[in-house]
Amino acid sequence: MDTHIYKTKLEEEIKILIAELSSMGKNIDPEADGWEAVPEKMDEMEADENDLADRFEDYEKNSEEVRELDARLREVHNALKKIEAGTYGTCEVCHARIEEDRLLANPAARTCKEHMHG
Ligand SMILES: [Zn+2]
Repeated sequence: MDTHIYKTKLEEEIKILIAELSSMGKNIDPEADGWEAVPEKMDEMEADENDLADRFEDYEKNSEEVRELDARLREVHNALKKIEAGTYGTCEVCHARIEEDRLLANPAARTCKEHMHG
């Protein structure tokens, strides 16, 4: 299987994910892709209660997004490891070859179309 095109796509996606993550959080555990949202700096002397509540909401939203991006980053790294190991493009459930159009849509796909849900 020619994995070159998928490898390029995965590496591109890592760059985008890291750029997005860097804008909202910081990497607290680089070995394990451990990203965490960073709260906005706030001047508590000046911020009133509503302000603080708003910022806390923003932080919650960022945390959620960082968790999702972080999970995706792990998937992408996992797929790259499979390319290196020579096991890329195989369904983790039935071990059949994953459809090419599915891999093009999601190069980090772990399963074939039949097993993509659950
Ligand atoms: Zn399958």
